[in-house]
Amino acid sequence: MASLTDSVGVLKGVGQKRLVGLNKLGINTINDLLTYYPRRYDDLSIKDLATAADGQKVTVKGIIIAEPTVTFFGRKRSRLVFRIKIADNIYTVSFFNQPWLKKEVSANDEVIVFGTYNQARNTVQGMKILTAQTANSFDSIYPANKEVKQATIKQLIKLAFDAYQPLLVDIVPASLRRRYRLESFHDTIKNIHFPESPKAAQRAFRTAKFMEFFLFAMKVQILKGAHRKTDPAAQIDYDPKVLDKFNAQLPFKLTSAQTKVVREILADLKRPIQMNRLLQGDVGSGKTVVAAIAILAAISAHKQAAIMAPTEILAEQHANSFASMFAGLNVNIVLLTGATSAAARRSMLPRIADGEVNLIVGTHALFQDDVHYANLGLAVIDEQHRFGVNQRQALRQKGTSTNMLAMTATPIPRTLAITMYGDMDVSVIDQLPTGRKPIKTTWIQSAKTDSAIGFVKKQLRQGNQVYVVTPLIEESEAVDMKNAVAIFERFRAIFEPDYKVGLLHGRMSNQEKDDAMVAFKNNQFQVMVATTVIEVGVDVANANTMLIFDADHFGLAQLHQLRGRVGRGSTQSYCILIADPKNEIGKQRMKAVASSTNGFFLSQKDLELRGQGDITGAKQSGMPDFKVADPVGDLNILTVANEEAQNITAEKDWKTKPENVQLAKYLQMNQTINYH
Ligand code: ADP
Ligand code: MG
Repeated sequence: MASLTDSVGVLKGVGQKRLVGLNKLGINTINDLLTYYPRRYDDLSIKDLATAADGQKVTVKGIIIAEPTVTFFGRKRSRLVFRIKIADNIYTVSFFNQPWLKKEVSANDEVIVFGTYNQARNTVQGMKILTAQTANSFDSIYPANKEVKQATIKQLIKLAFDAYQPLLVDIVPASLRRRYRLESFHDTIKNIHFPESPKAAQRAFRTAKFMEFFLFAMKVQILKGAHRKTDPAAQIDYDPKVLDKFNAQLPFKLTSAQTKVVREILADLKRPIQMNRLLQGDVGSGKTVVAAIAILAAISAHKQAAIMAPTEILAEQHANSFASMFAGLNVNIVLLTGATSAAARRSMLPRIADGEVNLIVGTHALFQDDVHYANLGLAVIDEQHRFGVNQRQALRQKGTSTNMLAMTATPIPRTLAITMYGDMDVSVIDQLPTGRKPIKTTWIQSAKTDSAIGFVKKQLRQGNQVYVVTPLIEESEAVDMKNAVAIFERFRAIFEPDYKVGLLHGRMSNQEKDDAMVAFKNNQFQVMVATTVIEVGVDVANANTMLIFDADHFGLAQLHQLRGRVGRGSTQSYCILIADPKNEIGKQRMKAVASSTNGFFLSQKDLELRGQGDITGAKQSGMPDFKVADPVGDLNILTVANEEAQNITAEKDWKTKPENVQLAKYLQMNQTINYH
């Protein structure tokens, strides 16, 4: 029996080679193919050039007035030129590198050309020659590759649609389709691939976006439900007396925001349900001590706790601070990272496996195959956005009923939170400890770089240390490294031998990076030239100044995170942004960072000024893979779809309601959320 899950290999014309090509485009099944949406549409309706704008893509019809000519440049390049008459005007049409088209055109023929209009020159740069049948339509343009061409994809979609259209049943419940005036799934697919007008395509896309968000939100709700299953083994029956003792020996009082999130976490731990909570808090808001309390709660209930950090140096920092915070509280700590020697590891693993060790601090090493835990009651993930979903799960699965606390300083506006971590409960520390001196941030033009360097000298003379962050030119570590090295040399020339300059970039091995950070922490360097690899939380209290070159190349949230590296000691801290933004938005962005120290405000601002990529960081993993919907641009649809998914799943018997039967069936077969 035919099914939408059939392989595209069943279609006529799909052999082994094409199948591989299609797979590369992410198309495996008929359903994948039918939901492989066009990137854009070319409007092939014939245009009157008198009203066309310069640079616009147009379709024109005219009479060729002289024999076309082809000129070759070298072996591969060529230009086909002819002149056409439309009404009483003459235009020149040229086609590059398609010499074979000459066969299709000759003097006195009528011709229909699709191409780009150049008003000043009265020319059309041709892209394709159309026939009377293909003109006057909307041509869907798909992302293609070497193995499967544009035209093939189109053909296959047509084939698949014709054969499988009876199977395109509605998954979205009828009441929702009515309420939001959505099209049927059948019409959505039809109008996306073969629209009769741009309006028709637009309407269909609206439905497709709703559907995508809605199904995502349904999966999230189901996942949440699964986590919420009663699991007595997940219950942490902590000893409040131990926690009181810990609080009493802390050198400071918790802020009220910290107290609030601690209460939320402890309430979760006490429930016979696995905790799945995200702790959000700006850099320096004091997440570590909150994690410490959760850890101690687990240990006081005779369970193990693990905390995983993205870098060795951060893990080491945590191990040290926990050792001093937990002094006298019967906590037995080990540090397990990639740098742990084989001998140390050999003696450590059995002690973890038999439960003698109750706090394991480390990096990715924590979830390696040969690491076994006696009873992992709590897994804490620090800087969780640095880990993939699978890595976080891998640690959690080291125990059978493990509670999870994920921490992040990346401030995500609430509205976006559902897409980033929909199945988690969220706690927010929205307050910094009192007595902090806010970092003074200024923005200067690059012409004033010398005065910034003068300022750096002054800070160095006073015994402070300085970070110099090098520009993010493109998403390439090789290029970024080159920049870092160039600036490193420049700063050495300026400051050595009086002060030593260090270098840190992403191309260094983990060991080299850690060595450089440790040396900086020990004040062996006074100036640290670095790429964004310093973004993640190592405390160097003596560093009070940060210089950021080409600051406008960074996202606001990222700048905020970066400058969080200073301002950790008692002296006044400074951040100098050097940037020559090209436009008004760029200027506003720099002003925003200079005037606000609130990470949530900045990420909201970023959203307004630039879009989502910046907040989530293009390189960051963990965003769901949406095909057509955009969590920022289509936020309204997302919000509504999410509400509706919550309403549906709030009813116990939703799966058996007639209007939900197809939905339940679909979700049964498609449970996973794909992230990239
Ligand atoms: P982050 O949330 O960025 O991980 P940390 O947990 O590293 O922040 O805390 C930053 C600094 O603030 C640490 O030196 C920590 O000891 C200190 N700190 C945390 N909570 C408080 C508090 N309530 N009062 C004063 N200092 C605090
Ligand atoms: Mg931290």
